[in-house]
Amino acid sequence: MEFRDLKAQYVALKDKIDEAMLKVASQGNFIMGSQVAELEKQLAEYVGAKHCITCANGTDALSMVLMAWGIQEGDAVFVPDFTFFASGEVVSFEGASPVFVDVEETTFNISCEKLEQAIDRVKKEGVLTPKAIIAVDLFGLPADFDKLQKIAEKHGLLLLEDGAQGFGGKIRDKRACSFGDAATTSFFPAKPLGCYGDGGAIFLNDDHTAELIKSIRVHGKGSFKYDNIRIGMNSRLDTLQAAILQLKFEAFKDYELDAVNHAAQEYSKQLQSVVKTPLVPDGFYSSWAQYTLILKNKEQRDGLQSALKEKGIPSMVYYPKPMHKQEAFLDLSHHEQDFETTSRLCDCVISLPMHPYLKQEDIDLVCTEVKNYLLNY
Ligand SMILES: *Cc1c(COP(=O)(O)O)cnc(C)c1O
Repeated sequence: MEFRDLKAQYVALKDKIDEAMLKVASQGNFIMGSQVAELEKQLAEYVGAKHCITCANGTDALSMVLMAWGIQEGDAVFVPDFTFFASGEVVSFEGASPVFVDVEETTFNISCEKLEQAIDRVKKEGVLTPKAIIAVDLFGLPADFDKLQKIAEKHGLLLLEDGAQGFGGKIRDKRACSFGDAATTSFFPAKPLGCYGDGGAIFLNDDHTAELIKSIRVHGKGSFKYDNIRIGMNSRLDTLQAAILQLKFEAFKDYELDAVNHAAQEYSKQLQSVVKTPLVPDGFYSSWAQYTLILKNKEQRDGLQSALKEKGIPSMVYYPKPMHKQEAFLDLSHHEQDFETTSRLCDCVISLPMHPYLKQEDIDLVCTEVKNYLLNY
């Protein structure tokens, strides 16, 4: 059994993907071929954003938004403590300071209550200037953007949706990657919509910021390629990746999203009586980047992981270390008691195999082994 079966997906789409890859090779339009602009149009339409700007990866996508917003030294950007390193790394990369905020145990996403406390504290301290919030759609579930939007407006902050894991999710009829002032995603192979290498995208409605980001994407270009009017980066999506994504996007819409939601329902049905299964609040829809259980303590979690491994069932711990404890951020000052939930989650979570090609017999086997372990624990 695979944790995320990319080979099964390739087998299902092989003929079309091979044809698309060969077409790019024979056309020779490797950088900014027509497939890139086509994909951007398709993704923008699906998400419900005016602009989609593809780029080299999800980390650059976040960085380019912060660059376009002029985030710099002395600025505070609020980031959940329970997320992948890149969500906070990009803030420090711009010279600004990430301020980590604890999450809700029920959704794994940033706690709005703790966020307001952190904003008030930073304002009172008067050292950093609060500028933006990066809210992450962790494990595929959109953050609570109804509340986050209000908090951002109340405090005059920009809101960035890190939808690297959230693409395909929804709040009522509004899709992930359409929330806040800008949103980003990643096409890293294991993300809900992945390519065959690195890739990413930015979604937004504001024309001016979109133009700025398109310039930043290609060395701060002005009216033409060798006219450079600002310091930018080199962060384009390869034509080859765009061609692959166009096909994978069709499968994603047609059946993959349904398939992961079906798998999640099956897991929860079989496991919710023995262990804490993930909650999807009313009106929310997840793209199930991960299916994550919460165990009682670290000993029980680590024991379950070993027991599954013995039976040949892969599992992962996302994430074993809170952001505020990462060595790279140790120069920022923290109070340990502000991160109670994240610290507990890092000890107690485990993610089970999850992908659109998971078979019923695989789900049944995983559930049987989880139950066996917990009943004998
Ligand atoms: C994967 C991920 C990123 C970074 O995306 P890359 O394409 O790997 O650079 C950023 N934020 C979150 C939450 C992620 O999971």
